Amino acid sequence: MEKKYLFSPGPTMLPPEVQLKMAEPIMHHREPEFEKIFSEIRDGLKYLFQTKSEVLVFTSSGTGAMEGAVSNILSKGDKALVVRGGKFGERWGEICQAYGIEFIPIDVEWGKAVEPKWVQKALESDPSIRAVYTQASETSTGVRHPIREMAEITKKYEDKVLVVDAITGIGVFNIPMDEWGIDVLVSGSQKALMLPPGLSFVALSEKAWRVVERSNLPKYYFDFKKELKSTKKNQSSYTPAISLFVGLRETLHMIQKEGLEALFQRHERLARATREAVKALGLELYAPDSPSNAVTAVKIPEGIDGERLKDLFFERFGITVAEGQDRAKGKIIRIAHLGYYEKLDMVMVISALEMLLKEMGHRFELGSGVRRLEEVFMEG
Ligand SMILES: *Cc1c(COP(=O)(O)O)cnc(C)c1O
Repeated sequence: MEKKYLFSPGPTMLPPEVQLKMAEPIMHHREPEFEKIFSEIRDGLKYLFQTKSEVLVFTSSGTGAMEGAVSNILSKGDKALVVRGGKFGERWGEICQAYGIEFIPIDVEWGKAVEPKWVQKALESDPSIRAVYTQASETSTGVRHPIREMAEITKKYEDKVLVVDAITGIGVFNIPMDEWGIDVLVSGSQKALMLPPGLSFVALSEKAWRVVERSNLPKYYFDFKKELKSTKKNQSSYTPAISLFVGLRETLHMIQKEGLEALFQRHERLARATREAVKALGLELYAPDSPSNAVTAVKIPEGIDGERLKDLFFERFGITVAEGQDRAKGKIIRIAHLGYYEKLDMVMVISALEMLLKEMGHRFELGSGVRRLEEVFMEG
């Protein structure tokens, strides 16, 4: 029998009751019934993003809202500062390039977090920088970047904004947008929001909305001002992904019921237990100093073929884990634990990892990773 499990950092596993809701007959998006769903979603997203601002929803993968966060924030001749510590940091630079925006990269060693003082120094040395682009959680390396500290820096400037790709941060760990003074916060549906891919989200501070007013880069679908007007009428400017909106109302209800504090604690516990378990197997973490609670990146031990390990996960157990990308290819595997995951899900993936490592000749005591998981889970 074939049974499949996703432990990839997007898409993630879905709650069956939400899948059923999304399978209901489709409704029309200009009916009052849909406007009611839209209105509940607006409230739920404000709760999740911890903001009084509207959270705009677009029908696209997460990269769509990232692109909008460039084309609506910058103007011709503006410069951007890009924190580049992995694949997704590189993406900010590529989007800037596509819009003819000159960007200054802060190249961070993969597996390490950016140091806020580097951002401070870059802003001081080039006053023409208008925006800082970063990830909250760099999914390609499993690193968490210091958002609060970066916001402390950008807050001091009237004319500079902090743009955060929190696609694997929102709904995983605490990123209070208003309290910390984050200007643009981006997320997507297929990670901690427990939905299929297809929706992207973005919220803007008052400062960021002022910046949008003067932005003159080309834009059409991802026009934030236009979408804000529609949002306030419980509408989207174009046909929304109706079924995903229906699912989103459900997952936002689940999140509100669990509560943000419990949600963050659950992810912290799953992540910590996973890190402890792989260490108990004699493996090393790729991002030991500043790990993200969304995904654990594990170094492949000497003598073991990383790509083969990833393939065997699927062949033997139907489990999808993620391999390393680019310079980390073959060197790491990434095990995700964001969204619809609980303690015993991690027992399954660590148990599979143990059986595969044993088969591939890694020396350790069978069961030691699972035992460590259980210990962490039983600590309370
Ligand atoms: C998944 C992800 C994205 C968005 O990727 P899409 O494939 O466009 O949804 C962006 N940034 C990070 C950090 C991600 O994990």
